[in-house]
Amino acid sequence: MPVSGLPPYDPQNIFARILRGEIPCRKVHEDDHALAFHDINPQAPVHVLVIPKGAYVSAADFHATATDAEIAGFWRAVGQVARELGLEQPGHRLLANMGLAAGQEVPHFHVHIFGGRALGPMLTPGG
Ligand code: AMP
Repeated sequence: MPVSGLPPYDPQNIFARILRGEIPCRKVHEDDHALAFHDINPQAPVHVLVIPKGAYVSAADFHATATDAEIAGFWRAVGQVARELGLEQPGHRLLANMGLAAGQEVPHFHVHIFGGRALGPMLTPGG
């Protein structure tokens, strides 16, 4: 059981299938540790997902069990993608939903990169 409390890794999840090339994506970056592609349902003018190539269910799973090289490679890719998308100025938002409370839909760890407009408050007010 991964550390996140989510079910064990499902190799049929949609991002696993994208990594295997079974379904297409609009790729923006790929290296040894990460793949980045446009979100299919963008919430901002720029909405890109960065995923590690390894089979990690969640942020908790990734940070507890990935190798140092995978963690460093993944987070360097996040930075590189944001830079290559021209989002360092005026800024952007990184977001990772982890588990049920955060509404994580796809059980393969991923970081959202949002940009291209003023992004507003971090969370919707509401207690
Ligand atoms: P989360 O709720 O953090 O798990 O986010 C999952 C994200 O994956 C959502 O923003 C979806 O729009 C996105 N998504 C689901 N299927 C695809 C797909 N085939 N290609 C690109 N993005 C996808």
